[in-house]
Amino acid sequence: MAEKNFDIVVIGGGPGGYIAAIRAAQLKQTVACVERDRLGGVCLNWGCIPTKALLKNAEYMNFLNHAADFGFMVSDVKVDMPKVIKRSRDVAEKMSKGVEFLFKKNKIAKFSGGGFIPKNGIVEVKSADGKTTDTLTARSIIIATGARARMIPGIEVDGKKILTSKEAMIVEKAPSSIIIIGAGAIGVEFAYFFRAFGSQVTVIEMMADILPIEDADVSKELSRNFRKQGIETLTETKVRSAKATAEGVEIVVEDKNGGVKTLKADLALNAVGVQGNVENLGLEQLGITVEKSFIKVDKFQQTNVKGIYAIGDVNGPPWLAHVASAEGVVAAEHCAGHETLGMDYTNIPGCTYCQPQVASVGLTERKARERGSELKIGKFPFTANGKANGIGETAGFVKLIFDAKDGELLGAHIIGSEATEMIGELAMARSLEATAETIYKTVHAHPTFSEAVRGAAEDAYGMALDI
Ligand SMILES: Cc1cc2nc3c(=O)[nH]c(=O)nc-3n(C[C@H](O)[C@H](O)[C@H](O)COP(=O)(O)OP(=O)(O)OC[C@H]3O[C@@H](n4cnc5c(N)ncnc54)[C@H](O)[C@@H]3O)c2cc1C
Repeated sequence: MAEKNFDIVVIGGGPGGYIAAIRAAQLKQTVACVERDRLGGVCLNWGCIPTKALLKNAEYMNFLNHAADFGFMVSDVKVDMPKVIKRSRDVAEKMSKGVEFLFKKNKIAKFSGGGFIPKNGIVEVKSADGKTTDTLTARSIIIATGARARMIPGIEVDGKKILTSKEAMIVEKAPSSIIIIGAGAIGVEFAYFFRAFGSQVTVIEMMADILPIEDADVSKELSRNFRKQGIETLTETKVRSAKATAEGVEIVVEDKNGGVKTLKADLALNAVGVQGNVENLGLEQLGITVEKSFIKVDKFQQTNVKGIYAIGDVNGPPWLAHVASAEGVVAAEHCAGHETLGMDYTNIPGCTYCQPQVASVGLTERKARERGSELKIGKFPFTANGKANGIGETAGFVKLIFDAKDGELLGAHIIGSEATEMIGELAMARSLEATAETIYKTVHAHPTFSEAVRGAAEDAYGMALDI
């Protein structure tokens, strides 16, 4: 079998790997990508994209349930769940094909199989039965193998009654009840989805709030809103065990006072987090440092072994597609000898696509206070926003946190119907080290949700005009 020689070989074709491959090709590198499944990775096939398709269906379902508010008399709405799922799968399929097209356009060689690194500079492509089908040489190797659902002892995931997000995404019908373990973005999005289709939903979270990494005000607002939607949230509650029974599932939980009870439902979803795909890559022989299933890297995404990089979910949090892609660009540029400043993790937007949506960038109020700086904080509720009233989406607010010393925007937190589309402005504001004055002196179009951004900046300085 002849060796095939490349400047860069990428293992894994998700949003980390495929973006790294394309950026490297733009920089005139010869590039190969080894993918054992489908191009696009979890994000396009089993994550970001298919879930957003499903969540659109959930929004329509909720709209139909409240259509009378808009003067539409809709009755006897029937749901064709297989069609709902098919739409989501079709969207995923289309997006994955889009990556194939981009690979052809950028002359990236794709190899199907598992990537294994027998020694630095070599990648073997292995078929499912472990046979080497190709041997590639590479000046640099980028590992972009992603992550999978984390399993914890006591939660017996069987893929039928106790599911991961992958099985939850293709259910044949909405269960009459579901318990969701973990109230991070994935757990909360599925809670909204299943509730919209009529399931009785209980979310269990070990921390004090749902979406625990968000600003506490936002988490509390989402909890309140979920309660109104009929979603039960049990916080400061640990799952001791979860097992499938003949009727459904039994989950034993313990509250903060040590009280233990057993919850029953048709299905459960394990959404407690992820673990890195670090197995069968040859990392041990290479001496690559792995901590708690994630590969350690420097700010250029290089591992402790020169010439081998690791990007995306496999190198640890934040586990987000746009972070994987940004790291892919940095790694590709570093491999190619192109100038790069390395990754800056202080300005990464995070979004959750339930309704109301949640989006944030920068510091939470608690983190900003821990820094010791004096703060100016402004809030603007969507109940006072014209567009939100016009379209009947008045839940939530914009909260902005500024450094009182120089007015710099430290953190931005939005909960509301358009939050995930609004956060870009504030990520840009932080990149440019914008102050409250820059934000409130920027004329925002009327009527738009984004006027609430201006309103929150004004409010921080006691100048709010509309509240
Ligand atoms: C349900 C769900 C919803 C999500 N929603 C969002 C969202 O809205 N926004 C967001 O930013 N993030 C979201 N995420 C997270 C996002 O999907 C990940 O952060 C992102 O996919 C990470 O990209 P990656 O390239 O590092 O890894 P992946 O996308 O996991 O891709 C890794 C690829 O490597 C391949 N691979 C693994 N091992 C090997 C090997 N040895 N050889 C060859 N190929 C290999 C895999 O088959 C896979 O295709 C969501 C995740 C889930 C599960």
